[in-house]
Amino acid sequence: MRKVALVFVLAVLVPSLLLAWLAVRSLRDQQFLIERQQSLLCQRVTDTLAQTISDHLAQQQQEFAAQVESLAISNNPDALAVGFDDQIRRAWPLAEVGFSVTLSGPVTCTLTSPTPAAGPAAQRFLTDNQLFLGNQQSAEVYWNANNLKSILYANVKNGGSSYSALNNLSSEQADQPVPQQNARNSWQNLAPTKAQSQSRAVDPQGGRYQNQAGDQVQQPESNLSKVVPAEAEFRQLIGDQTDGMIARFLQDKLKLMFWHRLNTDSNLVFGAELNLNHVIDGLRDLVQPDPELTNEIVVALLDDNARPVVLSCPNYHSNWKHPFVATEVGQALPHWEVAAYLMDPAALTRTACIVNAVLGVFIAVLVLAIVIGSWLIVRGLNTELTLARQKTDFVSNVSHELKTPLTSIRMFSELLADGRVTDAAKQKSYLQIISAEAARLTRLINNVLDFSRMERGEKKYDFKDCDLNEVVRAAVGTFRPHLEANGLEFVCDLPDTSIPVCGDADALSQVIVNLLSNAEKYSKGGREITLQLTQKSSPLPHAELKILDRGSGIPRGSEEKIFEKFYRAHDSLSSGIQGSGLGLTIARQIARAHGGDVIYEAREGGGSCFILRLPLSRC
Ligand code: ADP
Repeated sequence: MRKVALVFVLAVLVPSLLLAWLAVRSLRDQQFLIERQQSLLCQRVTDTLAQTISDHLAQQQQEFAAQVESLAISNNPDALAVGFDDQIRRAWPLAEVGFSVTLSGPVTCTLTSPTPAAGPAAQRFLTDNQLFLGNQQSAEVYWNANNLKSILYANVKNGGSSYSALNNLSSEQADQPVPQQNARNSWQNLAPTKAQSQSRAVDPQGGRYQNQAGDQVQQPESNLSKVVPAEAEFRQLIGDQTDGMIARFLQDKLKLMFWHRLNTDSNLVFGAELNLNHVIDGLRDLVQPDPELTNEIVVALLDDNARPVVLSCPNYHSNWKHPFVATEVGQALPHWEVAAYLMDPAALTRTACIVNAVLGVFIAVLVLAIVIGSWLIVRGLNTELTLARQKTDFVSNVSHELKTPLTSIRMFSELLADGRVTDAAKQKSYLQIISAEAARLTRLINNVLDFSRMERGEKKYDFKDCDLNEVVRAAVGTFRPHLEANGLEFVCDLPDTSIPVCGDADALSQVIVNLLSNAEKYSKGGREITLQLTQKSSPLPHAELKILDRGSGIPRGSEEKIFEKFYRAHDSLSSGIQGSGLGLTIARQIARAHGGDVIYEAREGGGSCFILRLPLSRC
């Protein structure tokens, strides 16, 4: 039994409590998990929108190329080159200023359109771009870091050098082999102008989480911009390609240009500086969250100063620099971001709190179940241990109880059989002892057999209408000689009238004899035993049989336990009184089977009072 208890504690209780402890610890990460989930969801939205915007601009670029080709069909290319600014502005509303460049030789470019006479926009354009488009001056243009790196690397492999460029890339980007330092070619100027990548204008909050100590920790992904500025000449930029876009910041304002090399004359390059307001107008319908997230997040297209230029929910206000998540649009709109803001940022904390509370209650219930279950098991094991001990005591007690009457019977029957006792009075007395001891033996065996029948649920009663007065009288008649022979004063107070009960007369006699036998056994010095039988009317009409003695009584706290099987309030060893611990158990079971009960009350003036109550028969 102890082994089972040990296995239970080691294999069930300790692991269960350990698991519960781990579960409680994991509760602390719930908020982070929920935030992380939400940020992944929103990040997917902003990534998709950023890609959609890039695709939209690429589409506009193709449209521009198509416009150029169609103008070239309807116009003489040389005439188109001169009047391109005017033509493209009329044909394509996105164009703010059109320009055309004639390439002659590897480094010579001639800007043929626009002319200053075209208006203030053309004049400003020429001030900004004349030298750059004439390939007389390099300009700072924007690239996706990866694109720039691959361009540089391709150039290096082709035998050139962009050492300075590579050297200036951040260590994260410069994982390509270092080229030879002294080789030179026409790409040497294509180099990141600001040694490191620039940091983004926004600081997404969804990428942060609290560590175990409660400190805020930035996610591993860096907050550096993926778009890097690099110095380049116009001729270098267009290379052998047919189309492209150039993004520059002039006076802190983004300028976006598309260019296209004419299919029929590769020396003619047509381009347009875009009207950014018109470009933004074209993006309004695109900057919308997924329909199922409309009530949860607001998406915005932020310019390079983190100001919203397009907003999915017009009345929404927030600290634009701190979106929940954001994605850079890329080299088409450098430092512009698609950002997502939570409509109700506290909702995440609330959700985390609710999840925490629900899981907490769940864990608490489980822990409580484990604790209660363990307590029940320990209690059950204890009961089993006590029962096992009581059974062992029972066997030894019963063996002893069997042995004592058997010894007397054997001794007195041998004396009589030898014929050595000739005195008739003595013979009678010996026979009475033999008969009493045989009755005691029968009582004990009956008790044991009855108990085993009751335990198996096989005890049968022969219920009949009978007179309890008669039953008591008969039982007293057989037991009285035994009591008186032992020198006890037995007072029997029986009514003159009959007391009708419905019961098994033998079983009821067994109850009476068990109670009388206990009164005799536990009387010690008190030599008086009283039996009273009365009929009571309240609360319901019932018969009441009291057996009172002047013994030691039942020790305090054992008043109910004495009715449990094998329980003995007086230990055989210390008290010297033999017993099986079954007499009262059987008495109570029989009484209850008759709809009554046996209870104990301390007798006034010392001693015990056992009361058998039985309902009266209705007939
Ligand atoms: P047992 O065979 O031990 O007498 P019982 O079931 O008849 O078993 O009684 C249970 C215990 O109740 C006894 O061991 C004894 O301690 C206590 N008891 C029963 N009757 C009396 C009594 N009349 N006076 C004092 N103690 C009693």
